[in-house]
Parts: sequence; structure tokens; C-alpha cells
Amino acid sequence: MNMLVLGAGQLARMMALVGAPLDIHIRAYDVGSKQVVHPVTGEIYELTLEQAIAQSERITAEFEHIPADVLALCEQSGKFFPGEEAIACGGDRAKEKALLEHAGVPSAPYVLVTERSHLDKAISELALPLVIKTCQAGYDGKGQWRLKDAADADQIWAQMREFLEKDSEHSIICEKMIPFDREVSVIGARDHMGNVAIYPVTENEHTNGVLTLSVAGLVNDSVQQQAIDAYSKLANALNYVGVLAIEFFDVDGQLLVNEIAPRVHNSGHWTQQGAYSCQFENHVRAVAGLPLGDTALLRPSAMINVLGQAAIPAEVLSVAQTRSHWYGKGVKPGRKMGHINVSADNLHALGECLATLAEYLPEEQYPGIAAMAQRLT
Ligand code: ATP
Ligand code: MG
Ligand code: MG
Repeated sequence: MNMLVLGAGQLARMMALVGAPLDIHIRAYDVGSKQVVHPVTGEIYELTLEQAIAQSERITAEFEHIPADVLALCEQSGKFFPGEEAIACGGDRAKEKALLEHAGVPSAPYVLVTERSHLDKAISELALPLVIKTCQAGYDGKGQWRLKDAADADQIWAQMREFLEKDSEHSIICEKMIPFDREVSVIGARDHMGNVAIYPVTENEHTNGVLTLSVAGLVNDSVQQQAIDAYSKLANALNYVGVLAIEFFDVDGQLLVNEIAPRVHNSGHWTQQGAYSCQFENHVRAVAGLPLGDTALLRPSAMINVLGQAAIPAEVLSVAQTRSHWYGKGVKPGRKMGHINVSADNLHALGECLATLAEYLPEEQYPGIAAMAQRLT
């Protein structure tokens, strides 16, 4: 089967790597260059988007910020999963909030802002501090502001206004800053028949808005059950097909949704070795109409992001059950260049592996590993 992925980054690449043994051949459409490429080799195909759509049995996406005309073309083909509506909900926080309310899933209280008076309403209704996010742009914590002091409102409003004025469709949400104990996420797949397969909830650490460390195998049954409930409500509301990720704030054992991602997700990369069928395989299976694979935890696992580095230190491979995943992209400061997965028979042993890895991975570039190691051992 030929499958077209909208987006030609590392997520499309990792789909292609698991697609090949399933006889699913993946080509990627780079929405920036408008080229159809092989997501592993970078080979450029002499194909227009229309031709690539015609030659593909299925179409999916690796990210949510896709031009509306591209989405519409794919939707019209009848081959696109999870489809235009789901992608739009992931790419627009106003639509996402409406979906969450409709599905009855709790999330951070918010006020939608398109003019100055709305910001004042947010300050009085939600109380400071506020997390302010552009609705139609942003990933890795970009396109956000924090308002802690009312005296800074004018200055932040000037920046917000600049974004709003770029496009009449633009909007911004102000969210209450949630005093969470930790951040967790759930990744699951839903097939064409409505069957779901959900991975164990992952605990995530962000540094300056970017995911730096994920650990699977740390949550209790109550948290897992809340995540499964939210997943089922949202995936069913969207009649979703493929992998869907949901990020949560854990506040005293109660989960509040932060955001959803209608795609495979960085916090699910550990499934490449912590589960029998990884998120990329389950996404490709679901979109292709194949049965879903096993999502149970094989071993406690952790994923460390490699941000802005030119290479992964080779010594990490000397640690048992450690694998490195390199994306082959040009180096830029802070850019996601690759990740390291590590698994062990139990959490204590995982902590010992992380302690050894911390010797090779300096805290400044790879924050939080030593602290997690200490917590687990
Ligand atoms: P991603 O790369 O995950 O798509 P993003 O740019 O869409 O990121 P968010 O996930 O919305 O951004 O926010 C980034 C981080 O900022 C969150 O993981 C969390 O640490 C913090 N954050 C976001 N919203 C809130 C909130 N309402 N209260 C407290 N912290 C928040
Ligand atoms: Mg996001
Ligand atoms: Mg996020």
C-alpha cells in the first residue's frame, strides 16, 4: 500500500521505518517546499500533491499546522485519516476547547481573546498568572506569553495585537496557569471500527516549553483510568482513526487536559521499545485498516530528547537496553535532533540506567535525567 503523509519531518520518517515491513510505502509531502519526498532518504519525487494523492491509497498527517487548501484536497479524496476536522481541532486552540467542552472532558479554564477588553476580562475572571497562547500557531511552547503582573498587560497586549492583526481569522486564548504536580500524556490508537488500543500513561518533563524527558510506568490505576476515559470521549467524538495524543496536567491526582495532538507524539517515542507495537506502527496500522497491535508496557521505559546537539554521544549505547534514534536534520539551537530510549526490567533498574546515562549526558543539554534517576532508585 502507498501512504502519503502530510509533513516530512521525523514523525513521517519513523512511520516509514515501521511501514516498510508491513508492505506500506510512505511518501511525505513537505508543506513548506511543496515537494513530495522519501521521509528517510530525502529523495525528491517528481510529483505534484494532486498526483501523490491519486497514487496513494491512504493519506495521514504528522502535524496539525497544515494549510487549509491542502487539508481540503486530502479530505475530498476520501482517503484522509484522521481527517480534516481532527487536524483542525489540533491546529486551533479555540476549536480544541470547543471539542473538549462538547465531549465533556475537563481542561484549563480560559477566555478567548480577539480584542483588548477580553484580556481585561481574562485577568479579572481567571486571576493572574495567565498562560497566553496563540490559537493557530505554536509548538514546543512557541507563540506563548506568561502574564504574572497586571503592570505588564499593556506590553504583552502590544505583542498579542500584532499576532491578531496578521490575519482576521487569528485568535488567542488566555488560560489560567494551572499549579500542576506533574505533566502526563496518553497515546492511543483508534481503528475504522472504533476499537481502541491505549498505551500506559507517560510522565513528561518540559524545559522552557520543550519536552526533555518522558517516563512510562509511573502512574496509578486512577490516573490511567481518567486518561482512558478522556481518550475514549475525544476519539469517539471525532470518530477518530489513527493515533491521538492527549497532554494533561495532573493536579493532586485529577487530570485536566492541556492540549490534544491529532498524531503520533514525542511523548510516545518510548513505545518504540517499551511496547510490542510502537505508536508509529499502530498509527500506520489504523490508517491502513489493519488490526491494532499490542499497547501493553513490556518494560518500564524512558525517552530523552536530544535538542540542538550535533550527535548523540556514542557511549550511551554501552548502557544495556539503550537505543539511539537520529533524525538526520540540520542542527539548530534547541531543535529536536533525535532521542534516546532506554528500558529496564523494573523502575529501580531503569533508575540505575538513567544514572549511568547522566554521566554521558551533561545536565545542561539533557536536564532532569539525574533527578529522575535518583527518584527511581
Ligand atoms: P507542544 O510542543 O506540546 O505542542 P505547545 O507549544 O502546543 O507544545 P503547550 O503544550 O500548550 O504548548 O504548552 C507548553 C508547556 O507550557 C506545557 O507543557 C506546560 O508545561 C506549560 N503550560 C501550558 N499551558 C499551561 C497552563 N494553563 N498552566 C500551566 N502551565 C502551562
Ligand atoms: Mg501543541
Ligand atoms: Mg504541548
